[in-house]
Amino acid sequence: MIVAMKSGAAPEEIQAVIEKISGFGLKAVDIPGGERTAIGIASAIPPELRQTLTELLESMPGVDRVSQVSRAYKLASREFHPTDTVVMVKGVVVGGNEIVVAAGPCAIESREQLFEAAAVVKRCGGKILRGGAFKPRTSPYSFQGLGVEGLRLLKEAGETFGLATVTEVMDPHDVDLISSFADILQVGARNMQNYPLLTAIGDSRWPVVLKRGPSATIDEWLLAAEYVLSRGNPNVILCERGVHPLDREHTRYTLDLSAVPVVKYLSHLPVIVDPSHACGNWRYVAAMSKAAIAAGADGLLVEIHPDPGRALCDGAQSLKPDSFENLMNDLRSVACAVGRPLP
Ligand code: PEP
Ligand code: MN
Repeated sequence: MIVAMKSGAAPEEIQAVIEKISGFGLKAVDIPGGERTAIGIASAIPPELRQTLTELLESMPGVDRVSQVSRAYKLASREFHPTDTVVMVKGVVVGGNEIVVAAGPCAIESREQLFEAAAVVKRCGGKILRGGAFKPRTSPYSFQGLGVEGLRLLKEAGETFGLATVTEVMDPHDVDLISSFADILQVGARNMQNYPLLTAIGDSRWPVVLKRGPSATIDEWLLAAEYVLSRGNPNVILCERGVHPLDREHTRYTLDLSAVPVVKYLSHLPVIVDPSHACGNWRYVAAMSKAAIAAGADGLLVEIHPDPGRALCDGAQSLKPDSFENLMNDLRSVACAVGRPLP
C-alpha cells in the first residue's frame, strides 16, 4: 500500500500518517519526491486490516490518495500460486491441457429427457453432465425444478453413462444434500455474492463451478472465489457466463471473453465459459464456444435438450443433439489449433 500525500502537505501531517501506520505494528517508509511525499507500507498487511486501514488513511489531513500494490485476493492470485490449479473430479481433470465440456439440460425435467441428453453428451465426448434440480428462476411462477427427485435422476444418469455431474446449489443448508448426489456444485450468477453459501461450500471442500455475476467485476469474482478458498476448499472452477449487455435485443447478456485471458493472468484457477446463458439464443452458441476455446478457456458449460421446443427452462438457448454433435466436431479443430486435446 502506498499513501500519496498532497503537494504541500505539512511535515506534521506526514508524521501523523507514519505514526498511524506504525500504530498498527506496520513499517512505514517515507519516500520524499520532487513535489510531494509518498509513504510506503513495507510490511505484510493482514487481509482483515486492509480495508479499514485504507479508509482511515484516506480520511487523514494531507492525504491525497491510497493505492494498493498487492491484490485484495491472495489465495486466488497467481502471485502466490504461480502454477495452474487443476480440479480433479471422478477422473475428469479440469484446468489441465485437455478441454473439458460439460453439457446437459438447463433443468432436469424427466428421466427420459435427462437420459437422452446424457447419452448425447457421452457419445460426443463431453465429460460432465449438467442439469438443474433447484432452479433460480426470475419469476416464482416459472418451473422451479424437480428438487431432490431431480438430484436422484442426475446421480443415476451420471452413473449409467460414466459422466461426472454438476448441479446448482442456492441455499447454504443444501450443500450437504446436493454434494451427496452431485460431483460438482454450481454457484449460479445470481448467487456469486451469497457469502454464507460460498462459506458453506468452502467448508464442504466439494468441487464448485463459480459463475460470474452479471454485474460483477473480475476482482469481485475472484474475491468470491477467495471466500471458498479461504475456508480450505481449493477446488474452484471459474465460469464466465456473460455480463449485463448494452443491447438486450439480440443477446441475453454479453459474453466477456476478454475475462478469460485476464483471469488466466491474474489467477491460477481453471476457467470455463458458458456461452448458452450469455447468448440466450442457440444460434450464437457454437461461435462463442469456439471463440472461448481459442481465448484460452479450459472448458465449456453448454445447455442441450433433446427437444428444445418443449423445454421447461431456457429452450431458446439449448442446442439440439445434432447441433451439439457438430459443435463438438468443430471444437476439436479449434482445440487442436491452440494445442489442446478434446476427446
Ligand atoms: C444455469 O446454469 O442453469 C443458470 C441458471 O445459469 P446462470 O446462473 O449463469 O444464470
Ligand atoms: Mn439455463
